[in-house]
Amino acid sequence: MLAHTLQTHSILVESPQPQSAVLPYPQYPVFQEEDRSMVVVMRTEATEAHIEGVLERLHEHALKGHLVRGEERTIIGVVGAMIPPTLREEMEHFPGVAHTIRITQPYKLAAREFRPHDTVVDVRGIPVGGGACVVIAGPCTVESEAQIVQTAHAVREAGATMLRGGAFKPRTSPYAFRGLGEEGLRLLALARSETGLPVVTEVMTPTDVDLVARYADVLQIGARNMQNYQLLEEVGRTGVPVLLKRGMSATIDEWLLSAEYIIAKGNPNVILCERGIRTFETATRNTMDINAIAVVKKRSHLPIIADPSHGTGQWYLVPSVALAAIAAGADGLIIEAHPDPDRAVSDGGQSLTLENFAALMPKIAAVAAAVERSIAVPLELEVA
Ligand code: PEP
Ligand code: MN
Repeated sequence: MLAHTLQTHSILVESPQPQSAVLPYPQYPVFQEEDRSMVVVMRTEATEAHIEGVLERLHEHALKGHLVRGEERTIIGVVGAMIPPTLREEMEHFPGVAHTIRITQPYKLAAREFRPHDTVVDVRGIPVGGGACVVIAGPCTVESEAQIVQTAHAVREAGATMLRGGAFKPRTSPYAFRGLGEEGLRLLALARSETGLPVVTEVMTPTDVDLVARYADVLQIGARNMQNYQLLEEVGRTGVPVLLKRGMSATIDEWLLSAEYIIAKGNPNVILCERGIRTFETATRNTMDINAIAVVKKRSHLPIIADPSHGTGQWYLVPSVALAAIAAGADGLIIEAHPDPDRAVSDGGQSLTLENFAALMPKIAAVAAAVERSIAVPLELEVA
């Protein structure tokens, strides 16, 4: 790496000096990424005492061990500011330890290396990430009882697995309608009690987390809040499943580091959501980064769904991009649908009519089947 930097440097800077005069860089301590991140893989026959032994030793080094108990073996993620370079060897000699793995990404708990198997997030009994794609549908904003209840019945009838709707809305303009607040949450709960569909809704501030969590089955963190670290920590404390949208200018690694904030606070139930990013292209509201779906699958064990509504910004583009996301391996979709998009208070231009949503569902099922997946079946109506 250093040699490469020097080479580039010497090409770019046409120095009259001899090479040797350019070379003596001061020897800064090189920070070793791999010394920050490690996973200890226990043997299948490791006992509780072995696991305790590892945790105690980590504690002596002022490190924390994050346990993941798999069906066959337990793995321990080492979390802390600085891992001593000798720890790897030390651990590999420990009773009950099979081997250690260096995690090369800056995130650990969200890394695929830490957890080789896909995480499945349970939302009221619906598995997200397990092979059956979830379809979350509903309006951008909860507007009235009639609007949300009608939408909930229609999308459920069409085969949707969950209901979306914003009660607290992040709006680019301070003059735009910012949601019904707690009344919107009550209406979502009412729609859930009528249809059995779990509710996905956004929380915007740390102080609202308890309130929103009393009503929501999934707490949505919006694109504009992806790097609101206090909010991430607060939802991390709840244990309630979180839908973490990608920031519109965030890299995939920044996004996964935001997921890390939530998991590090003790909430492993993170569902990622690709919702399009800002690029030079102006023909669509955002550019749907289909690549990100495949990249996330490689780098992380977390489930990822796609939002073709915000990804495109135009209702007539939503079906194609929804299908592309499923084909690329997304674990589901979140789609804006409204009984009367022309009159929607927000995002009407990208919302499907209830009829168009119903027409899209069989196509989603067909593409899912083509890539050896299925559509999650909505749960039987639960009496709340
Ligand atoms: C939304 O889901 O309505 C929303 C505001 O999404 P995003 O945060 O992705 O813009
Ligand atoms: Mn919206």
